[in-house]
Amino acid sequence: MARSFHAFLVNDLFGDPALYVSLPWERRSLLFDLGDISVLSAGRLLKLTDVFVSHAHIDHFVGFDYLLRVLLGRPKGLRLYGPPGFIDHVEGKLDGYTWNLVEDYSFAIEVHEVHEHRVLTARFACPEGFRRRENPTSHPFDGVVLEEPQFRVRATLLDHRIPCLAFALEETVHLNVDRVKLEAMGLPVGPWLMDLKRAIRGGAQAEQPIRIVWSEAGSRRELALPLGELRHHIVRLSPGQKLAYVTDAVDSPANAAKIVSLAWQADILYCEAAYPARDSARAAARFHLTAAQAGRLAAEARVRRLTIFHFSPKYRNCPGDLLDEAMAAFGGRATG
Ligand SMILES: [Zn+2]
Ligand SMILES: [Zn+2]
Repeated sequence: MARSFHAFLVNDLFGDPALYVSLPWERRSLLFDLGDISVLSAGRLLKLTDVFVSHAHIDHFVGFDYLLRVLLGRPKGLRLYGPPGFIDHVEGKLDGYTWNLVEDYSFAIEVHEVHEHRVLTARFACPEGFRRRENPTSHPFDGVVLEEPQFRVRATLLDHRIPCLAFALEETVHLNVDRVKLEAMGLPVGPWLMDLKRAIRGGAQAEQPIRIVWSEAGSRRELALPLGELRHHIVRLSPGQKLAYVTDAVDSPANAAKIVSLAWQADILYCEAAYPARDSARAAARFHLTAAQAGRLAAEARVRRLTIFHFSPKYRNCPGDLLDEAMAAFGGRATG
C-alpha cells in the first residue's frame, strides 16, 4: 500500500516518547508526544503545526521549551492538544520565563484541553507576554480533536492513574495515480500531481484548471486540464492510511476496549511496552502496559503492524525479550 504519512519515533526504544509524522502533500508535520526532541532539526520543528500530548509526565512534555525556543520567531501559530489540566500546565511553563522585548513577534499558541465530553480552548499570544487571553472556550467533544479535508485525528482518554490521551491519525481517503493511464494520456510525472491531489482533497470544483508544466527536449511545455477530467481518468480512490498512538495506560478492560476501538485495523499501531510480562505486577502498579499486553491489544485491534516503544531503562540489556514477547502475543510483525 502506498504511504501517505511518513512517521518515525524520534528517540530509541528507551528514550522519551515522541512520534514525528510528516504530511508530504503540504510540507507540514504533526507530533505525538513532546518528550526530549533535541535530536530533531530546526527544519523539522518549523514544519510542526499540531502537537498532541498524551499527558504531562515529564518524559512526555519536557520538549515543550525546546520547541517554543525554535518556533518563537515564526509568524505561524502552534496548536497543542492535551488531557484535563493541560491548559494550566502550558500556562505554568510559559509563566516560567520573562516575556518582554517580544512585542514584534506574532507567534501564538492555541491549547485544546480534551475532556470526556468537551474540549476547552485557550490562547496564549507572544506579543501579550503569553498571558492567557480569556477564560477558555468550550465545545462538545465527539471523539475527533482535529478534522481537516485530508485527515482527522481522533483521541480517547485512557486510565494511567491520571487521564492520558491516546490518538489515531486517519487519512480521509487515499488518492492513487494510475501511472498507465497517465502515460497513455501523454502526461508527465511531476509536482503537478501533488497540486491535483491537494485540489481534490480540498474539494475544488471540477472545472478548476490544473497547470501541468514540464520540459521536453530542452524546451518548456505547459498545459492546463480541468480537475474533473484528470480525476476521472487518472485518480483512483482507496481507503486512507491509519496510524494509532497509545502510551502510558494500565491493562484494564475499560482501557483495552477503548484502545481496540481507537486502533481498529490501523496500518501501524505505536504502542508502549514498558515492561516484560514477568514484571506485570510492577507494570500494573505503575499503570503501564507490558509487551505481551501490547501484542494482545494489537492482535485484537487487527492492526497490520505493531511498533513498540517506551521501554523501561531497567531492560536496557535485554530489549529483545520485549520485542519477542510482543511479537509472540501479536502473531504478526512487531518492530521496535
Ligand atoms: Zn506517564
Ligand atoms: Zn511515560
